[in-house]
Amino acid sequence: MTERHSRNILGLSLAELEQLAIALGQSRYRGKQLYRAIYARRVQSLESLTDLKREFRGALASQYHIAYPEIQGEFASRDGAVRSVLRLGDGNTVESVYMPEEDRTTLCLSSQVGCGLDCKFCFTGLLGMRRNLTPGEIIGQVLAIAKARSIPRRARLNIVFMGMGEPLLNLPAVMQSARVLADTDGLGIPLRRITISTAGVVPKIHELGREPARPKLAVSLNASHDEQRTALMPLNRKYPLRQLLDACRVFPLHPRERLTFEYVMLDGINDSNADAERVAALVRGIRSKINLIPYNSGAELPYRPSPLKRVMEFQEILTARNVPAFIRISRGQDVRAACGQLSLAGA
Ligand code: SF4
Repeated sequence: MTERHSRNILGLSLAELEQLAIALGQSRYRGKQLYRAIYARRVQSLESLTDLKREFRGALASQYHIAYPEIQGEFASRDGAVRSVLRLGDGNTVESVYMPEEDRTTLCLSSQVGCGLDCKFCFTGLLGMRRNLTPGEIIGQVLAIAKARSIPRRARLNIVFMGMGEPLLNLPAVMQSARVLADTDGLGIPLRRITISTAGVVPKIHELGREPARPKLAVSLNASHDEQRTALMPLNRKYPLRQLLDACRVFPLHPRERLTFEYVMLDGINDSNADAERVAALVRGIRSKINLIPYNSGAELPYRPSPLKRVMEFQEILTARNVPAFIRISRGQDVRAACGQLSLAGA
């Protein structure tokens, strides 16, 4: 059977692989061995699994294969970040960003091909929504980049779902992939180092909050009142600020956990002192921090980044009102790898 007719096994959960082993006449334990091989040992060929019985291996290899998304292009920034364009099995492409730091590495993953939420400052929004990614395509981004950049299993990896797409609109696949990423028999990246970033899909924030174990949550706020937010993020018409912040207020945080609000700072649009005061009032009572992100501009969109002096004044106002606020300069701006810039440009 050719690869074209066999199924990509990547993305199956432990329970699914155990069921598969049983269906092929093996013990449940063989499924666990297979799970460890695919995710913890990062094996890429089922035929090479010589610790499995020959007949099981043969039956598996006749029906399944392991395929990572193919790296179609890499764009390396002066600051060390690398934007990768990954080709999926059906020919669609998504982008992931590798951001090495001294003591850790962060991978920014996509959860959808394109995005349907049309945030006005975001290049991905210009693509429109094409489809959701599967768990295998999400995990495959990590495995493909880990292989290309030789990231060892013991490396301190952070995962952020801040690439293309709205992760909460693909929550089942994002959660299935997060469980495999976090599992010590999987990729071994603890849930506390995985963050899902949402534009504010309120019912899905509640749904994520009900998960017994979940990644951390970041909310892309970007405005201090409804009119402003609706102009920037049309989703706000459906889930206005009050509903969004109520959902954040009841989101069940762990004892030392803080919710993150992201605030992209757009020159003359959402960066006044009055905006900072309103933002401080909005998040009052929510155990949170705010990341202030000067906008990453590009020719196609009309926005400009707030000057650093403005960002610092905004930060001071928040800090003076006991709201922890941090300035985050996005990595990889010169190769369009920064927040909101992923658009398959130069792909
Ligand atoms: S900012 Fe996020 S949610 Fe908004 S259009 Fe871009 S990818 Fe979609």
